[in-house]
Amino acid sequence: ATWDRLTREPDIQIRDKLKDNIDVENLRQQLREFTKSSRLAGTPRQKETAEYVSNLWKEYGLESEVVTYNVLLSYPEQGENTTITVFYNDGSQHIIYAEEPPLGDDPGGFAVRPFNAYSPARKVQGKLVYANYARDSDFEKLVEQNIDVTGSIVIARYSKGFRGNKLKQAQDRGALGIILYSDPADYIGIPDPPVYPDTWWLPGPGVQRGNVVTVKGDQTTPGLPSTWYAHRLNDSQLRDSLPKIPCQPISYNDARILLSTLGGNVVPAEWKGALNTTYRFGPSQVRRITLDVRNVNELREIHNVIGRIPGSVEPDRQVLLGNHRDAWVYGAYDPTSGTTVLMELARIFGKLYREGWKPRRSIVFCSWDAEEYGLVGSYEWVEENLKKLTSQAVSYLNIDSAITGNYTLDVRTVPLLRNLIYDTAKVVPDPFQPTKTLFDTWLERNPETTEPTRPRVEKIGAGSDHSPFIAGAGVPATYPRMYGTGANYTSRGTPLYHTRYETFQAYTMVDPDFTVAKTMAAFVGELARSLGDSVIIPMDVEVYAKEVRDSVSHLSEIRSRFPTGAMWLDGLQSASKNFSKAAMEFHTSLKKIDRKNPILVRMMNDKIMSVERAFIYAEGLPDRPRYKHVLHSPSGMNYYGGSDFPGLEDLLYKIGTNTGRWDQVKQHISVLTYCIQTAASILQ
Ligand code: GLU
Ligand code: CA
Ligand code: ZN
Ligand code: ZN
Repeated sequence: ATWDRLTREPDIQIRDKLKDNIDVENLRQQLREFTKSSRLAGTPRQKETAEYVSNLWKEYGLESEVVTYNVLLSYPEQGENTTITVFYNDGSQHIIYAEEPPLGDDPGGFAVRPFNAYSPARKVQGKLVYANYARDSDFEKLVEQNIDVTGSIVIARYSKGFRGNKLKQAQDRGALGIILYSDPADYIGIPDPPVYPDTWWLPGPGVQRGNVVTVKGDQTTPGLPSTWYAHRLNDSQLRDSLPKIPCQPISYNDARILLSTLGGNVVPAEWKGALNTTYRFGPSQVRRITLDVRNVNELREIHNVIGRIPGSVEPDRQVLLGNHRDAWVYGAYDPTSGTTVLMELARIFGKLYREGWKPRRSIVFCSWDAEEYGLVGSYEWVEENLKKLTSQAVSYLNIDSAITGNYTLDVRTVPLLRNLIYDTAKVVPDPFQPTKTLFDTWLERNPETTEPTRPRVEKIGAGSDHSPFIAGAGVPATYPRMYGTGANYTSRGTPLYHTRYETFQAYTMVDPDFTVAKTMAAFVGELARSLGDSVIIPMDVEVYAKEVRDSVSHLSEIRSRFPTGAMWLDGLQSASKNFSKAAMEFHTSLKKIDRKNPILVRMMNDKIMSVERAFIYAEGLPDRPRYKHVLHSPSGMNYYGGSDFPGLEDLLYKIGTNTGRWDQVKQHISVLTYCIQTAASILQ
């Protein structure tokens, strides 16, 4: 009887019970509760919400604890104002204050004014230059125009990449400071619509907040948890690692005033935004412009909540699902649309557990703090538990901002989970067309461009709490969301992202009946159930091997762009072949094993669980040692996205005939070869 218990097949009725228990009124009520106040990390309210979550999870039947760390956070200085001042030639001035007035059903109370976290406090003055999205290619364009940004203040628009990369580009090219704004061209989908609070479109005074650091986790304890015993970087070490030039976000109303000071050539079409002004490269034709940023960095307490349903057969194996709880202001979409889903799933899993259902593996619920400051809560927890996670974690499901729209599913994932995600989408009904599945509408509205017979999935990238799991620990992760507010607006985010206007009211414009939230709860819940309860971990090693093969053959194709013989790929090609062969044979033997033999089952599962770890290289990527995953670390150019070989991408950028760098390329190709070969040998 004991042996039978160890190899029992999952109770498939749980799948329906999960779905049937989802209650839209609970989803609505949780969203209301969390959005009734600001939830800025490091404030007393965040300690309260941690206790609220932990107590509820205990009530639901989970084991739960609050885990606190002391970390470096950043705030606008109290009693001071960040200002941007235009000194006109006629002696008059215009001062822009960093403010965002309340609109719509703003609950009132504290709301942090717009700022970019970890921008240094500094006053700079100079000419202004427009840099489009402040990507590498945009600055190259300025070089073509003979515009040198050295000694200038850059103004650039948000969107198309992580804001920290924009700052870094400006800094590396000698700019004194950078001003970021949201252009209506990127944050409004149709011409001249009514804006928030009448619709979800970004209103004139809206400002996107956000951190601008490219190294994540607590800035004072890289690689170690910020516990009471942690040694911290000193001030001068910190100054070296934090951004050096000031950075401030503003609204499009204010940006128009700054852009209209610009002289020089009129920009090409791709650089034009939708404001009523002529977009020019600059420099500004006024006497001067000053940017005076008043931020302070402070050590403060943050609070994660970790809740657990113990597994009945393999309690040491963990399926984790999580989302951050902190928000820049009310955060109705980001993160709360996901938090409400997480809360409802904790309730339902707790209920089923108390009614007697015991998942095979442990299911761990995580509510992170200080994600907005650079994934601080999740990084510190992963650092503290790294060895345990490496040997025990099956996967991590990230449910940040689960609903920012209602148009289609948008999934970022590692290849191991791709087929499970497809299969799961096939058993969840579409929120608006119940005769269709989520898979059907996803395929219809968002197909893969190269293979239109299947729905699009994207590389996992970074930018939310899955990153320390996948890029730091090699735990397979996925990050599914619903996005899009109609076919004519396909930007991934919501226009109100990180503004004060992410209110309960704004959420209900996208999902008035909470049916989209219900759909996401069903989808993520079923993913967790399946990963937590299937006898064999439902991950596909062949998909992984194929993706590696494709990346290697793509690399062979682009090799001709570089000096002949500079890139030797024989080893890489051979390892990739070995991985494919091992994956195929593993797949075959998996179908044949005796599923009633618990040791064999555990052995096969261990192999599946270890494959992703093969790609963790202890020294990390060249010049980015904190990123350990040689395939699924973020791209150095755009931190939100991924890249086939992120380390190679960094090294090959503008490499020319730099022999030192070509040597690093060879070194890194052998690291890649070694990791792929390791994956093959794990499966053999
Ligand atoms: N999700 C937040 C953002 O995009 C934080 C991401 C990060 O720092 O990794 O601003
Ligand atoms: Ca740390
Ligand atoms: Zn978020
Ligand atoms: Zn955010």
